[in-house]
Amino acid sequence: MYDLLVIGAGPAGMALAAALSKTGLRVAGLTPGDPAAPWLNTYGIWADELDSLDLPDVLSPHWTDCSAYMHGPEIRLDRVYALFDNQKLQSHLLGECERGGMDWQQGIAAGIDHSADHSTLLTGDGKTISARLVVDASGHFPALVARPAKPNVAYQAAYGVKGRFSAPPVRAGQLVLMDYRADHLTAEERRTQPPTFLYAMDLGDALYFVEETSLAFAPAVSLDLLKERLERRLAHYGVFLVEAQHVERCLFPMNLPLPDLTQPILGYGGAASMVHPASGYQVGMALKRAATVAAAISATLAGPSSPVEAAQAGWNALWPSPFIRNRNLYLLGLESLMSFNEAELHDFFTTFFNLPHPQWTGYLSNTLSTPELARTMFDLFTRAPGRVRRSLIRTAGDKPTLLWQALTAAP
Ligand SMILES: Cc1cc2nc3c(=O)[nH]c(=O)nc-3n(C[C@H](O)[C@H](O)[C@H](O)COP(=O)(O)OP(=O)(O)OC[C@H]3O[C@@H](n4cnc5c(N)ncnc54)[C@H](O)[C@@H]3O)c2cc1C
Repeated sequence: MYDLLVIGAGPAGMALAAALSKTGLRVAGLTPGDPAAPWLNTYGIWADELDSLDLPDVLSPHWTDCSAYMHGPEIRLDRVYALFDNQKLQSHLLGECERGGMDWQQGIAAGIDHSADHSTLLTGDGKTISARLVVDASGHFPALVARPAKPNVAYQAAYGVKGRFSAPPVRAGQLVLMDYRADHLTAEERRTQPPTFLYAMDLGDALYFVEETSLAFAPAVSLDLLKERLERRLAHYGVFLVEAQHVERCLFPMNLPLPDLTQPILGYGGAASMVHPASGYQVGMALKRAATVAAAISATLAGPSSPVEAAQAGWNALWPSPFIRNRNLYLLGLESLMSFNEAELHDFFTTFFNLPHPQWTGYLSNTLSTPELARTMFDLFTRAPGRVRRSLIRTAGDKPTLLWQALTAAP
């Protein structure tokens, strides 16, 4: 019998498996195929988010010329952005797992039974695997983790292309985090359809990545609409796709509820609602939280424990009250973002990126304490133009439950 069984070998499952393997516990992983199968998504991160981690260089390339475009002048973002080199990150984590003697099993998690001191996982092809604790890291719609149902889930959606273009879509060496300008749309479209933005970067060697993104919307903005908007935007900038090397289609939920934190299995990554509700980023957080969660599990498994007790230790480490409070504040912020019209959205982000550096960077990286986060949101409110303030007040009034949850640590 294993101490731990981790379901899924995406960035989150692999990060936690690597951290668990370092604790001396007997760890197994379950994936439908090869755990070394490449991760195909383009994962970005602010480079400083990994400073506190003992990681080799897994970021490539970096951008120091980062900007956002709203309705005013270009907003320069004084922060280094990077893409993960997925292959380097994955090989590093796989190496840590191997050094810890981890076993990889192939199969699809299909069911689970719990007894007093272990859980027995059933795979789709009838195999059983026993472990003292099962961790479900199978993504945003997990195989086993139970989560309350939620109507009107908001999704981040994006359609992107890596390739060569008739002219540079961004200036040499530039990373555009958000270009919300919408002059390529008709007045009717701008008034009635959800705003979307361009996320784009110079990859060097005349290669660029351009992606039209809907930050969050319920129901999700369709990928067809995003593709059409991307083409129209680029045409408006006088740019045409010449050669596509990779097409990225992105769709994932932003505001699923927290899972039931008393269940006898632990979730991690998308399965544990770890996505940042205001940005959609998650990979950095999965890397950063892994050691803390692994240590809590390891301490509990040092003595006799039931799956519920071991899972509880993990959930408590993953979602302590301050983190739940911050998440609730972010969820309130997300509702506001989704309610803004185009002008309000531009005003909001212009004000946001002009906040003091520690505030906007801490907000995006979820490194602020709850009082600091609340202060940041208050400062944003007081600095924002009147129409944004009125909209924020309206959202808070329309969502009394969310407001109550934001003021408490209610999951
Ligand atoms: C195109 C795209 C771009 C993105 N860009 C970013 C970004 O720039 N930065 C960022 O932080 N986030 C980004 N995200 C968000 C992204 O969803 C995640 O944060 C990340 O992939 C979630 O990691 P995860 O390990 O929780 O889940 P996943 O990556 O979905 O991995 C789940 C794993 O579980 C396995 N699995 C699933 N079901 C079962 C089962 N029943 N049994 C066994 N195994 C199973 C899967 O095969 C997979 O290995 C992006 C997402 C997309 C789609």
